[in-house]
Amino acid sequence: MTNTQPTTVGFIGLGNMGSGMTRNLQAAGFPLVVNDIRREAAAELIAGGAIWATTPAEVAAASDVVITMLPTPRHVDAVVNGPQGILAGIADGGTWIDMSTSVPDVANRVRADNAHRGLHILDAPVSGMSVGAANGMLQIFIGGEAADVHRLRPVFEAMGDPERILHVGAAGTGYAVKLMINQLWFSHLVATAEVLAIGVKAGVDLDVLRASLVASPANSNFVENDVLSILDHGDYDEGFAIALACKDLGLSIDLARSVGVSAELSGLVEQIYRRAKAQYGDLAGEMTPFKLYEDLAGTELRRSVAVPA
Ligand code: NAD
Repeated sequence: MTNTQPTTVGFIGLGNMGSGMTRNLQAAGFPLVVNDIRREAAAELIAGGAIWATTPAEVAAASDVVITMLPTPRHVDAVVNGPQGILAGIADGGTWIDMSTSVPDVANRVRADNAHRGLHILDAPVSGMSVGAANGMLQIFIGGEAADVHRLRPVFEAMGDPERILHVGAAGTGYAVKLMINQLWFSHLVATAEVLAIGVKAGVDLDVLRASLVASPANSNFVENDVLSILDHGDYDEGFAIALACKDLGLSIDLARSVGVSAELSGLVEQIYRRAKAQYGDLAGEMTPFKLYEDLAGTELRRSVAVPA
């Protein structure tokens, strides 16, 4: 990447996350080449000067850096290794960053099969929800070579909060950090829903119960902050579909299995998430398992004095 020639960024996957991330890359002045199976997802970017490519291979051939932001490892595999995939277009020595929440298998296979090509491959999954993607304040967890992370920092800074763009270790560690964050957050959600439902059913006022938890050693960021989107606004975050949350929980357990650590609690949380997915549908928000407990308690858990959004 030189300072005279702007880096052309190829971006594949213009969904809830990719749409905001590409808008911010474009606003930061990076020429874009984009692709998605839904061409309409690129309309606004094309109006802003982005070039449409019909295949991932074309994206890779026309860019200095290719980014993928796709639902699952299966999608990443197809986009990278498919007949018109990234590997069919990327130049030797080229750079691919996978920002999807995923596991290292696909990238490891690409590295092993293409060792002679000198590719630079990084995993850089994110936290911060679709709102963080839209306002360029994502937290980014990067696994890969330090020199690559340094070289690509301006690209990451266009999408993320500069203070929270973290190089977390060698290739694969970005995926692991992201999966562990989601695992713990989903566990917090289920535990909080259970406790609030039981306490309210036992006759405690919801505000009093939550205030007591916040003031106690059992406080968490979830109890103090994140649960308020439900308690104040009935918002279960449809910007992140529960089908993808179940995918993350499954990957997290796959990772536990692959490193030989038992994951009983994670397994239970995964099953609760899958039950909510079956009950409320694939597109329900990632916080919908909370609703299972509201249904059990026979009441929506809402604060009496909601704070405006
Ligand atoms: P999404 O389903 O909204 O978007 C995925 C996009 O990929 C869609 O536009 C889809 O058309 C496209 N796509 C699928 N297959 C493709 C293919 N073969 N070729 C080209 N495009 C293809 O998903 P999302 O919510 O944007 O999530 C993307 C990734 O980011 C996932 O791994 C998710 O777990 C992770 N993530 C999501 C959030 C969130 O809040 N939504 C937060 C952090 C991380």
